[in-house]
Amino acid sequence: MDARKIAAIAQELYPEFLLDLEALVNMDSGSEDVEGLQTVVDYLVPRLGALGLTPEVEWHDQYGPFLTARTRGSGEATILFLSHLDTVWPRGTAAKRPFELKEPFAYGPGVNDCRSGILCALYAVKVLQKLGFQNYGQLILVFNPDEELGAPWSGRLITELARTADVALVMEGPTFPDEFIISRAGTMNYTMEVTGRPIHSGVAPEDGRNAILELLHKLLKIQTLEQHDGIKVNLATISGGEKQGIVAGHASADDQVQISV
Ligand SMILES: [Zn+2]
Repeated sequence: MDARKIAAIAQELYPEFLLDLEALVNMDSGSEDVEGLQTVVDYLVPRLGALGLTPEVEWHDQYGPFLTARTRGSGEATILFLSHLDTVWPRGTAAKRPFELKEPFAYGPGVNDCRSGILCALYAVKVLQKLGFQNYGQLILVFNPDEELGAPWSGRLITELARTADVALVMEGPTFPDEFIISRAGTMNYTMEVTGRPIHSGVAPEDGRNAILELLHKLLKIQTLEQHDGIKVNLATISGGEKQGIVAGHASADDQVQISV
């Protein structure tokens, strides 16, 4: 396909894209704001329908709507486009700081995470239609409502859909223009609890076992994981001990380990 032709069509659609972006950014739809999330779905469904996609909504009382939209082509590959409907912002944020365009940047709650991603999926289909390109088996656009919570509900639904796909494109906006990210770090959060043997430190401290000391040994050891490429450790919080005069019987810490491959 001719890249210049694709860019020219995208450029032609850009003013319309900005109008849709403004409309979406000005809708509050924080995670678990099921009414707000439904407003976004109500905006998208007719537009997806107009592109010949078949929208389908699954509902969860706590998390709201999970929207998918499919279209079939004449080729082989199944391609998944993932973007999310929720933002991290509470109701009222859109009224306080609505969409604003100061070229080359656009501002407003969730503008890049993930409003522009939602629209990039939709407009990718628009561009393909204008090109008359149908050499795909199936396009599946997925819009989940609980991404900012770690996808506690939709994660399972997405995994099932991903099994049917040849390619999955996550439409989250990148940090820099024209950046194509092929992997992100995975994060594991740990809470470590250490139990010692509390005892009066003035009488027979050797009979006690200090939980703080043991925790420190463990944390220093975890920190050495950073010697491996692609591993980052964040020792985030620490607490423990009872009071002066007592060998600490308890200590705990929260850590975060990020692994990128
Ligand atoms: Zn996001």
